[in-house]
Amino acid sequence: MTTAVPPINEPDPSALICPRDQVGPCALCGRKTHRYGRGGCPLCQWCAPPVMEQWGPDVHYISTRGKN
Ligand SMILES: [Zn+2]
Repeated sequence: MTTAVPPINEPDPSALICPRDQVGPCALCGRKTHRYGRGGCPLCQWCAPPVMEQWGPDVHYISTRGKN
């Protein structure tokens, strides 16, 4: 199974439909996403599923902010 992930300069679709003040960089890849969507998850739809699956005692975020 191959999941096509668009380049990180492509915003997450959720960023295009959510209120502008809720748009922010994904905590993992840095693409624009709906920061407060899906229960406050600060991840885009491509980063969130694997993280959610691994959700456990050792959850940590990698900050990629400040790249631009
Ligand atoms: Zn992401």
